Amino acid sequence: MHYVFITGGVVSSLGKGIISGSLGALLEAAGHTVTCMKLEPYINVDPGTISPQEHGEVYVTQDGAETDLDLGHYERFLSSNLGKANSVTSGQVYAEVLDNERRGDYLGATVQVIPHITDQIQSKIEEVGKNFDITLVEVGGTVGDIESLPFLEAIRQMRIKLGVKHVVYIHLTLLPYVKTAGEMKTKPTQHSVKEMRSIGIQPDILVCRAERNLLDKERAKISLFTNVPQQAVISMADLDSIYRIPLVLAEQKVDEQVCASLGLSCHRQPGSLQAWESLVIQEKSAKKGPRIGLIGKYCKSKDAYKSLIEALKHASIHLEYEVEVVIIDSESLNEQNVDDTLQGMQAIIVAGGFGERGVEGKILAIRWAREKSRPFLGICLGMQLAVIEFCRNVVGLDGACSSEFTKSKNPVVGLIEELKTADSETRDTMGGTMRLGACIDILQPDSKIHQIYDSDKISERHRHRYEVNPLYVEKFQEYGLVVSGRAEEGGFIDIVELPEHPWFIGCQFHPEFNSKPLSPHPLFINLVQNACQDLNNLPE
Ligand code: GLN
Repeated sequence: MHYVFITGGVVSSLGKGIISGSLGALLEAAGHTVTCMKLEPYINVDPGTISPQEHGEVYVTQDGAETDLDLGHYERFLSSNLGKANSVTSGQVYAEVLDNERRGDYLGATVQVIPHITDQIQSKIEEVGKNFDITLVEVGGTVGDIESLPFLEAIRQMRIKLGVKHVVYIHLTLLPYVKTAGEMKTKPTQHSVKEMRSIGIQPDILVCRAERNLLDKERAKISLFTNVPQQAVISMADLDSIYRIPLVLAEQKVDEQVCASLGLSCHRQPGSLQAWESLVIQEKSAKKGPRIGLIGKYCKSKDAYKSLIEALKHASIHLEYEVEVVIIDSESLNEQNVDDTLQGMQAIIVAGGFGERGVEGKILAIRWAREKSRPFLGICLGMQLAVIEFCRNVVGLDGACSSEFTKSKNPVVGLIEELKTADSETRDTMGGTMRLGACIDILQPDSKIHQIYDSDKISERHRHRYEVNPLYVEKFQEYGLVVSGRAEEGGFIDIVELPEHPWFIGCQFHPEFNSKPLSPHPLFINLVQNACQDLNNLPE
């Protein structure tokens, strides 16, 4: 078992997750089995409860964990998928220790941060690490945060416990450029490393984020003050594409240095980075592509729809187009402005979400895409709203709605348990169980979705409580909205499409979680392809 711990200093948001994933890709290319995990200092037991406005999207793993978006970065760079165990929050660690204490497991000992919390953290890390040659462990937050101290203490102890050949510490810092001095400043990095050393961790490798590459004299100075060898001071300038990061790390031999410290071989096969190199070339040579309107309501954070935007990027790079994703706040849409706002979009995506806010604007956008024959993809809530819109405006079902938002005499979307009755007025309890993680769907032969996936069975990830009400299927199918995919287990309505429309699909799952840059998702490829067909026919 070998561990690479990645910590951050100076400021947050330096891209530790992307660097961890990129290094993972490199170590895989060097012939090792690799996984990544994230230690989150916050106290929430369940990252799924944090608003995307606050902390970016909630990422969903195959085994149904709701996690931090960094797990998405890891999965997109690694060949293997991750699971529940790869995301650990302080809250989970404390909850487990408190449970142990209540059960009397500590046999009357005083329960303390050291050793009880730190031991629990280590056992969670080792649980993941036992199945891989190398485990990359990212510690969330920034050195100096009170909350991350138990994690830093736990990873400090691990080198003593496992031996120097089993642990590498990488520290990511920022070199700010001070305009008035005309210089990139190394002092914050020096302080950050000093802070790490005061905790007992001497970083082995420093990754320095900056506007431009490090000069030799800057590298020498950082090395001198931080006690990190010069070749281990890695320059990571702002890049035009995150997919260049594995290549930039490879140029500076970070993989070789990590493997050497761990006593592992580093046989990068010739051509093993070829796929990343081609991707970067393709991205660079991409021609101007479609503009896609992403209708959402979590518009304050640019990371709220991270995987969706990445999936669109993967598909368009594959097609050698540069897609432009325009995030449109559904709350700002109304009957008067919907046409002007959406006219310039070559496709419309209505994203997932929870709660009533912004729902009517999304329904307006769906109606617009349906009536104007513009390619439309509804994801999760987006699919539920597509059914609602169709039932209201085509089938003529008065007040058709989801019981998530209101009681209605036509609850075309409802909680699994309440679907047994057509009348949501009879329901007075809230809540329900979430369908979470990978589920198998059976696709309808001759449907568009079957043609896109070219398969009878698919597996996609879900995260929702509500379902399309089967009692209304016959009715809306009669008017032309077709159910083209159902859950193998439970028969839930997971895909709808409009055969009369050039491209109108709603899916109850989140296809974006299964898209990787080196294996773009067929649904997004097909959507972008269709959006491109419109490129010449639309007003600027
Ligand atoms: N709020 C809806 C549900 O719980 C949709 C969830 C989503 O879009 N992820 O079913």
